[in-house]
Amino acid sequence: VAQAQKSNLTKASKDRTASSALTLDKKVEDLLSKMTLEEKVGQMAQITLDVVGKGENRFTSYEPLELDKSELKKALVDYKIGSVLNTANNRALTPQKWYSIISQIQNVALKDTRLGIPVIYGVDEIHGATYTAGATMFPQQINQAASRNRELVKRGAAITAYETRASSIPWNFSPVLDLAPDPRFSRQFESFGEDPYLAAELGVQMIDGYEGDNNDIGHAEHVASCMKHFLGYQVPTTGKDRTPTTLSETELREYHLPSFKAAVDAGSHTIMISSGIINGVPVHSNHDILTKLLKEELGFKGLVVTDWGDIEYLHTRDKIAATHKEAIMLAINAGIDMSMVPYQYETFCNGLVELVKEGKVKEERINDAVRRILRVKYALNLFEKPTTNPKDYPKFGSKEFEQASYQMAAESITLLKNQNDVLPLKKNVKVLVTGPNANTMRTLNGAWTYSWQGEKVDEFTEKYNTILEAVQKEIGERNVTYVPGVSYKMDGKYYEESADQMDKAIAAAKNVDAVILCLGENTSTETPGNLSDLYLSALQTELAQKLIATGKPVILVLNEGRPRIISRIEPDVKAVVQIYQPGNFGGDALADVLFGDVNPSGKLPYNYPRYPNALVPYIHKPSAEQQTVAGVYNYEADYNPQYEFGHGLSYTTFQYSKLTLSKSEIGKNEQLTVSVDVKNTGTREGKETVQVFTSDLYASGISPDMRRLRRFEKISLKPGESKTVTFTLSPEDLAYISRDGKKTIEAGDFEVKINDQKQKFTLLD
Ligand code: BGC
Repeated sequence: VAQAQKSNLTKASKDRTASSALTLDKKVEDLLSKMTLEEKVGQMAQITLDVVGKGENRFTSYEPLELDKSELKKALVDYKIGSVLNTANNRALTPQKWYSIISQIQNVALKDTRLGIPVIYGVDEIHGATYTAGATMFPQQINQAASRNRELVKRGAAITAYETRASSIPWNFSPVLDLAPDPRFSRQFESFGEDPYLAAELGVQMIDGYEGDNNDIGHAEHVASCMKHFLGYQVPTTGKDRTPTTLSETELREYHLPSFKAAVDAGSHTIMISSGIINGVPVHSNHDILTKLLKEELGFKGLVVTDWGDIEYLHTRDKIAATHKEAIMLAINAGIDMSMVPYQYETFCNGLVELVKEGKVKEERINDAVRRILRVKYALNLFEKPTTNPKDYPKFGSKEFEQASYQMAAESITLLKNQNDVLPLKKNVKVLVTGPNANTMRTLNGAWTYSWQGEKVDEFTEKYNTILEAVQKEIGERNVTYVPGVSYKMDGKYYEESADQMDKAIAAAKNVDAVILCLGENTSTETPGNLSDLYLSALQTELAQKLIATGKPVILVLNEGRPRIISRIEPDVKAVVQIYQPGNFGGDALADVLFGDVNPSGKLPYNYPRYPNALVPYIHKPSAEQQTVAGVYNYEADYNPQYEFGHGLSYTTFQYSKLTLSKSEIGKNEQLTVSVDVKNTGTREGKETVQVFTSDLYASGISPDMRRLRRFEKISLKPGESKTVTFTLSPEDLAYISRDGKKTIEAGDFEVKINDQKQKFTLLD
């Protein structure tokens, strides 16, 4: 009966969705039919607006309460602009100030324009409502990937949606679905790491959290999500932001597409395009990628927005258009629906109108773009409710929300090394806390925190604990000595450092039982985060080496947006704890891990490289590894990461046994059940992520990957407890993209690996 009721319910809710979609489409068509060409084109522009406030200038002002009225009128009334983003304050505002600013904008849009179409306002709220003062900051996405905890990812996104709407903002430029196998790239922390399946699984959770399970973004606690940056953004050849790459069709589809495909299928309403160039073609001008692949093949019905200024860049940077106007033509004809920051919106709007009149852009293309934009505006219920009042969001910044952020931080922390169980530390020890990351909230949060590069974090985080403060709380101030040793120059470039009482730090080490050495990097994103050397900085390495030489046990805490190479010091430190960028509760969570209140359970979401010239991701071809088979020419291939993808220790031990496959042979329409027993053989309760990898032993046409993650499940076990964990794989999971770009399920032998357990099976023809 329950089953029957459930399927009736599902049907009823499907019918409702279908009928509301119908009325929505009808509303869109009615409105579209009333619009002039100029009104349509204006909808396709997204601009920033100036604020007038007290303070030295508009970027540092604390009180940007007023918008420049004449600018607002010119943009919205004269040019009929349909979208606004990141209104020029680049600093967090309280929900009330956001409400005031967005109300001013919506008032003009609704009351002073001919058709009264609301503006859609977008912001990067990528790890919590990052531009809202008092909001709950979550760990960055890379931490969320390390937690492997689907439920927490979804919950964090739901809280972010709530707090974003509490600021009257309905559109969030998140999640980042870029595959990030290259640690040189400055934005790896914004991603779910290097695995397509992991990114797809967690991306979908995030979208469900933002948009609600039924993508009901009209709900006043949901926001429209934005998948970004389509496609292949995080793998430029030089490793530097907004520089070109080469990628075969096979690589694009095998590795970079799955997270986006899963997110499109999950109903995400909008997508942002990669600022990069693939095979010589800027993605913003690539009709094959934007229209054929995204809109036709994946069937994406939502809104396609450019990244910052990227139409003009086709002319000024990428040089594939001799004029700005030609750039507009290329991008719109390729499939762009909305231009984020056309630096001169007058040029964009006038140019696009002319292009239509000249027949160079078809009006049908404009109609398609505007339909997509209006559909999102109607779905968001902006016509009825253009703003949301902070008063209706009593849980904003609540303890309950903070607890979710803490929980995510705690589950993401990844114990990489723990020689002779040096951790957890006893609470009666004396410690030296040192390193440039030891006493700053900025590096715990990372970029996109209260501002773009996160440089203003410390002004907003008085009430939260740095690592030092959290350790002091844990074992008492008198047991903690603090000397920075090395500091970031806050007024210099992001990576400039100075020695800060290094000798004093070494001397202090002699009087303590253990050293908590907090290294990594300062925070940054995008091009300011470009780097020419992946090694940990020279000064930080020197500090570590001198501390090691004291003979005191050194606990290395890594607080970094990408894995900086530590091979010069790693063999001599006793423990390594990767905290990534764990947010405002990261200091507390770390102290709880160091002193044993929390048992760590994070797993690396990427390979931690050992050498800068050996950046081999865990997904690689057999020839990228040294071949040990007799007679195989030894290429001295260097696959020897410091720590592998999926690595992460616990204070207890887990024993895997009895990996069992339901069959040793499966047909193409059959499924394979895989089960394994996991037992907690240690003395304390712990969480473990069971990770299922498969290897295709031989593949035709394309050399197979050594192994691929296919399933994962995080479980919790009490001491002595054992669980059988079961997964189902289908032949589809074993498919690969062959040279013709098609998904191929090929008969042959495969291997399943879970931890130290392996089993072979055959996929039949
Ligand atoms: C970034 C995007 C971001 C946009 C709006 C761009 O520079 O690449 O990720 O969403 O700015 O802030």
